[in-house]
Amino acid sequence: MNFPSKETVATVRTQYPRGVRVEVVRMADPHTRLRPGDRGRVMYVGGTGTVHIAWDCGSTLGAVYGVDAIRRLPELQVQCLECGNIFNGVPELDVVGWYCACPECGSHFEVEKEGS
Ligand SMILES: [Zn+2]
Repeated sequence: MNFPSKETVATVRTQYPRGVRVEVVRMADPHTRLRPGDRGRVMYVGGTGTVHIAWDCGSTLGAVYGVDAIRRLPELQVQCLECGNIFNGVPELDVVGWYCACPECGSHFEVEKEGS
């Protein structure tokens, strides 16, 4: 297997920043229960370009660069529960779930798994 260049890994990191929603296009692992259309959220991109994902079904199988295929979903629009501000939320993973911080008032609140 060929590992991607540093530049390619940097591109993958730009395409799949922490917190964005992704969907399975195809996973090569025959043992996974992930199926095309299953969704999750990016945790981080590893040194070989593998995108590590917290899938909604509970799996944390990574998408291997050049082997598996995933696609990024549009950012969800979130409305702040405190001030009503609407913004494109890319949440941060906290110990118990994914949280967004409102850019207006700074309050934190949990983001639904299936985006709003
Ligand atoms: Zn707010």
